[in-house]
Amino acid sequence: MRARTVGEPWHLSSQSEKPPEDPYSIAVDGRELNPDRQVLGNSQVRENVAKLYENIVKEVGNSDFTFQVTGGDRYVDPAGNIRSSTTGETVADASRTSPHLISRGARAADLRIRGVSDAIVDRAIRGTSFLPANTVRGYPDLHTHVALPNRPEFYIRPRRRRRRTPPGRRGR
Ligand SMILES: [Zn+2]
Repeated sequence: MRARTVGEPWHLSSQSEKPPEDPYSIAVDGRELNPDRQVLGNSQVRENVAKLYENIVKEVGNSDFTFQVTGGDRYVDPAGNIRSSTTGETVADASRTSPHLISRGARAADLRIRGVSDAIVDRAIRGTSFLPANTVRGYPDLHTHVALPNRPEFYIRPRRRRRRTPPGRRGR
């Protein structure tokens, strides 16, 4: 049996891996799961996307599969159109009660997962906070929709107000 101390010094450096100015990055073991930087303002969604990926890796024993965030938060504009928080574009056929909506908690993520069976993904989802009953497939682009339960503790928390740029700061 291999005796290895938990908490070896190299663990300490992992805290600073994610730069604070890149809040939607979801990096696991050097792999970026949100390369398009889809807006996912709810930290619990980001954490559970990472967990889901890790659970699939554990299930299949490798990381040789496609796993990428393809959709995130949405909002309703003053005219009542549902738009992507990432692109500002209107979302076709978007549900007015979708958990992607910030007003509904921003609890959802759309994922492109290829090379892994749905059964394995479903098992992996059960090891996260995503509600299995919320999982939807069968979209034209074949993405998998996952969402946290419709409960207040899973809703996005109000964002801390961003500090204004101080007047003397040099522009870039
Ligand atoms: Zn979705």
